[in-house]
Amino acid sequence: MSTLTDAIESGDRRAVARLITKLENRIPSAYTDLAALFPHTGTAKVIGITGAPGVGKSTLVDRIVALIRAASHSCAVLAVDPSSPISGGALLGDRIRMPEHAVDDGVFIRSMSARGTLGGLAPTAWAAVHVLDAGKYEFVLLETVGVGQSEIAVAGAADLVVLVMTPDLGDSVQTLKAGVLEVADVIVLNKSDGPAASRALRELRAIVDGAAQQPVSILQTVGLDGTGVDGLWFELQSLLASFAASGELMRRRSARLRGELIRSLDEALRTDVLSEIVADPQFCSALTEVAGRRVDPVSAARLLLASLGHY
Ligand code: GDP
Repeated sequence: MSTLTDAIESGDRRAVARLITKLENRIPSAYTDLAALFPHTGTAKVIGITGAPGVGKSTLVDRIVALIRAASHSCAVLAVDPSSPISGGALLGDRIRMPEHAVDDGVFIRSMSARGTLGGLAPTAWAAVHVLDAGKYEFVLLETVGVGQSEIAVAGAADLVVLVMTPDLGDSVQTLKAGVLEVADVIVLNKSDGPAASRALRELRAIVDGAAQQPVSILQTVGLDGTGVDGLWFELQSLLASFAASGELMRRRSARLRGELIRSLDEALRTDVLSEIVADPQFCSALTEVAGRRVDPVSAARLLLASLGHY
């Protein structure tokens, strides 16, 4: 155990931030630290909160954090924004965003970009969840900006998924039909202070009843004044408790780790194994065959993999 991992396990917020930064910068020792911490993970409850930009995710997350803190639980917020090129825990934005929580040791707030990930979660986000888990944060709120696939990607990283929408359903109805319904456990109709709220609720119920494969709760909130947020938090806690009791939580976590293992394999194959193959003299021979149009690229790739013992 390094001093950094010891500090993380004892709940040192700055140590947690430091390791996440090391992971983002791909510093090799970060992976050793992560490996040492991993056996101490598995207790944090990870709640994914997704939705289009501007629907009120951050406003709701702030209020949920306040409820979690009022109940003396610790929590971390990981905000992953695929459109932002900027990451970093010391971002001014984070401080401005939740000023009352920035000085609270029981709350960790971090923004991450999803650099280089098309519509998915930043690869570091998965690792960061493990770091937060090892840092003994009881709840991790994984907030992702929903642009297409990232809404679905968050489901692969969370115990429970909340989709935030507004009564101005418009394009988001299309999103619902595009598969998000299959991963959402709770749909929140935020900004329910507007005149269109009750009609939108009826429309949404009709869509969900017609299409959802699993029960989906629909709740109304007003992030601005907090109306309905207590009810939302109560619902999230009850769902987590029922998932834990029924074995669903364990099933989701195993599926999540399976996905992570497959992704890690994919990354290792693409980086390590690929560069090894490209550096092998047989790659040049295969290329000569392809360039001479004697062997097509697909067959050449398969032959190469087979002769190098990878296939
Ligand atoms: P995010 O992009 O999904 O994180 O959305 P924000 O939380 O930043 O909220 C976007 C804007 O909507 C902000 O100006 C909020 O003050 C406002 N907002 C959030 N919740 C509500 C609500 O329930 N009603 C109204 N009218 N505005 C809200």
